[in-house]
Amino acid sequence: MSSEIHANYIAGEWTPATDAHQNINPSNLSDVVGEYARASAEQARAAVAAARAAFPGWSRSPLEERLEVLDGIGAELTARREELGRLLSREEGKTLAEGVAEVGRAGRFFRYYAQEVLRQMGDTAESVRPGVEVAVWREPLGVVGIITPWNFPTAIPAWKIAPALAYGNCVVFKPADLVPASAWALTEIISRSGLPPGVLNLVMGRGSVVGEALLGDEGVDAVTFTGSVETGGHIARTAAQRMMRVQLEMGGKNPLVVLDDADLETAVSCAVNGAYFSTGQRCTASSRLIVTEGVHDRFVEAMVERMETLRVDDALKPDTHIGPVVDQSQLERNQSYLEIGVQEGARLVHGGQRLNRETEGYYMAPALFTETRNEMRINREEIFGPVAAVIRARGYEEALAIANDTPFGLTAGIITRSLEHASHFKRSAQAGVVMVNLPTAGTDYHVPFGGRKASSYGPREQGRYAREFFTIVKTAYTRP
Ligand code: NAD
Repeated sequence: MSSEIHANYIAGEWTPATDAHQNINPSNLSDVVGEYARASAEQARAAVAAARAAFPGWSRSPLEERLEVLDGIGAELTARREELGRLLSREEGKTLAEGVAEVGRAGRFFRYYAQEVLRQMGDTAESVRPGVEVAVWREPLGVVGIITPWNFPTAIPAWKIAPALAYGNCVVFKPADLVPASAWALTEIISRSGLPPGVLNLVMGRGSVVGEALLGDEGVDAVTFTGSVETGGHIARTAAQRMMRVQLEMGGKNPLVVLDDADLETAVSCAVNGAYFSTGQRCTASSRLIVTEGVHDRFVEAMVERMETLRVDDALKPDTHIGPVVDQSQLERNQSYLEIGVQEGARLVHGGQRLNRETEGYYMAPALFTETRNEMRINREEIFGPVAAVIRARGYEEALAIANDTPFGLTAGIITRSLEHASHFKRSAQAGVVMVNLPTAGTDYHVPFGGRKASSYGPREQGRYAREFFTIVKTAYTRP
């Protein structure tokens, strides 16, 4: 293997592999971002063994050591966000501004969990038996497998790795095969952070090889996964067979309700942001725009007007609003859903066509359907591209019923000036995250994140709620 191939990181060593992946820029198919090693199943198992060996030391490591390590990683991500954001945009296709913001946010996760290290507190309780003391505290879980998708190549690994390490766990990190560069760059920073060898291992490669090896390895105590419902279901079933703890964050078909009393400008900017930014490739994207009758036509007209101003181009150009689709197969999937929508009787009022730009890339105009029904496949299945559908509703009650009539439950939004409807919606939306007069996508890093129904399985991520997954409770009785 050539020395230019970016290696995996196992037991504190950069470890080459016999297979490699060529990482291509979706904005410019002639631009090779780099070559990245694909780990074998055997190497994945070696990474688990290294993590196991490092666990006794790291789980008992001084808190200030953990704090310093996490803080240092966060500081470097923050300082290098322009450079690493550019790399992220080059390999994934979201705009440069989005890439830079994502790396900055990843830095925030590390800095937040650096502080959480010191906020690990337990409880004491009176015993029902006189003379006995009871204490309850949390302990690290062990070795955690971290399996991540391609759409947030730095932020999602960060929001899983930072709490895993903060609470004293060791990690085997398997990023999506499509976006290894950001994962590798993050690991390179971590490798210089003072973390002992084996505490964090990187195994890039295919889900069917590396992911499966982690699922099948008894040395893995828990898996946290973000990705599709299909893979998540497979992971849950496999984990159940050996009673392994899992946390799954999966797809969405998120509703944005627009009521007659909405501020039209807020409605349009939230819908455009939620549906099309990051090329619609967000689990929190607003794909169903549920609009009440009194504002429906004005909303559609204003949406089309705004969509005409969106510039779809190379992700690295500073004035691009929407970058390319991530790869050929996602582009084909988006296009096939456009056909399905038309066959189902929906009206494609704007966009959807493939676009040619200076360089060859996976460019597609953001698409808007109207005259759709919630039963249509385009409103039930996650497309994961820049495609949104307007559903007409008679009033608030019907809009709410449509919003909740979905197999998913990640985020839900409402645009209204009515306090009564906003309050009712916050209580009644069957989603893990609810937004009022805000886009359905875009969340903070210090509060819980996760969904309901097919969108999530297991405890919440982020904020201090993350400890539910990354720690295990112990109850100790003492007769002094
Ligand atoms: P995916 O399910 O195809 O892959 C996710 C990860 O799982 C990848 O690392 C992949 O290699 C791995 N994997 C695949 N097969 C595996 C197997 N058999 N065993 C173990 N690991 C395996 O998902 P994707 O296409 O990378 O990501 C897109 C999906 O992610 C969308 O459905 C999106 O909604 C979802 N997503 C959810 C959230 C959330 O927080 N809810 C956030 C971002 C993305």
